[in-house]
Amino acid sequence: MARVIIVRYGEIFLKGKNKSYFESLLVSNIKNALNGLKHTFNRSQGRFFVENFSADVESEIVDRLKKVFGIYSLSLADKVETKFEAGFPKIRESIKALALNLEEENTLKTPKFRVTVKRADKRIPLTSAEIAADFGGIVIENSSFTVDLKHFDYEFFVDIRENGWSFVYSNVIMGAGGLPVGCSNRGLLLLSGGIDSPVAAYMMAKRGMKLVAIHFASPPYTSERAKQKVVELRDIVSAYTTEMKLLVVPFTDIQLAIHEHCPAEYMITIMRRFMMRIASIVAEQYDCKAIITGESLGQVASQTVESMTSTEDTALYPIFRPLIAFDKEETMTLAKRIGTFETSIEPFEDCCTIFLPKNPSIKPKLDTVRRVEKDIKNADELVAKAIENIEIY
Ligand code: ATP
Ligand code: MG
Repeated sequence: MARVIIVRYGEIFLKGKNKSYFESLLVSNIKNALNGLKHTFNRSQGRFFVENFSADVESEIVDRLKKVFGIYSLSLADKVETKFEAGFPKIRESIKALALNLEEENTLKTPKFRVTVKRADKRIPLTSAEIAADFGGIVIENSSFTVDLKHFDYEFFVDIRENGWSFVYSNVIMGAGGLPVGCSNRGLLLLSGGIDSPVAAYMMAKRGMKLVAIHFASPPYTSERAKQKVVELRDIVSAYTTEMKLLVVPFTDIQLAIHEHCPAEYMITIMRRFMMRIASIVAEQYDCKAIITGESLGQVASQTVESMTSTEDTALYPIFRPLIAFDKEETMTLAKRIGTFETSIEPFEDCCTIFLPKNPSIKPKLDTVRRVEKDIKNADELVAKAIENIEIY
């Protein structure tokens, strides 16, 4: 019996004249996601079908598809010949096997089920309800399940298609939802080694934004291992974002200059202003239309309204902060779900934590920040040099 994975995609973005654009973007993202796993891919009537894979990669394919934005749901199904004239022998066999399986897994006391038949093949002279009632008998014979069309614990689906094949399944796995990555411009993600920014990447990719990541490193104050951690986070989150370039900016000289010339309480604000300056230039180079951070309101001194106002003063693009209203708990839950949490909490230093003042200004005044920052006379030169020495991963 052949296995097939049915892939359903959201209807919302498929309305109107952009339909084929979204669809082909999604197809290309799926193909990239399944790269290296042998399979065939078809589309028909608003669904995709992944077939001809071996049993040992089945769960890997499902796992990867669950991370592709734009997919609404998935089902793992048996693909069997319809053979109506012979009384659907293959479908019956498949339903029986499914019933036996579910019976074995079942822990409910009084499991209820229904059979839902979709009959695209209109040559069959029975109604869907008649066929469903017939198939329901097979479930009853092979399990302890009883029929309840309204309040059921298990649903057996039988899709009888026009081409002589039918799909039998009971599971509907939710996909990642969202829009296919690439349909909402490109953004430059400020990726630290922390918990928040990988989650911010996930959130923006979910709305279809393609990302390039930028990381500020301050060797020797930050280690090679700290950088490696950022590369790892990039790799993990790439399953959702599709391929994401990582640019590592040498930030040491800028931090030393700020440390030397500016009041300690403004250190963080000014540092972040430099990050935005550099990010803006890099954004233009990489055709990014927005800058993304993992900031959340009030989380730390640099994430107050005043701090953000002072910071974004130097940005030439809109700054998107998808986690702005998230509690840390909510972000952590999401980080665990997408698989970045364990790496994020590895204890490596971040450039933000070096020269950290005891009392950073919580409400930096923009005028003051602008004024004290002028004491770094070679700011433009430092910025240019940092950009020149970017390493690409
Ligand atoms: P995170 O968990 O993402 O590190 P955080 O709660 O530690 O965030 P901050 O350190 O203040 O908060 O950083 C706020 C945001 O600034 C981060 O989410 C990230 O987008 C950006 N950022 C901070 N440090 C760096 C860095 N070294 N390189 C690139 N971006 C950074
Ligand atoms: Mg951080």
